[in-house]
Amino acid sequence: MCAACPFTDECRDWALTHDVYGVWGGTTEEDRAEIRAQAELPDPSSITDQLDDLIAMRSILVVDDPILSRAS
Ligand code: SF4
Repeated sequence: MCAACPFTDECRDWALTHDVYGVWGGTTEEDRAEIRAQAELPDPSSITDQLDDLIAMRSILVVDDPILSRAS
């Protein structure tokens, strides 16, 4: 299915930087680990790290937005 998908490169690249399971861009978790090792890429951020980043980002946006800061 991935071979015919127009988003294979983007999908694989996203999965290389995120801690996800399954097939992304035609790569398995083992494939991506090998690509990361060969390219000396950092380990992907975990979903909990990503959620922490989103919560922190939301806090900054709410504080900086006069309308949102009144609603929270
Ligand atoms: S996993 Fe990614 S590349 Fe494969 S079919 Fe789905 S969107 Fe396309």
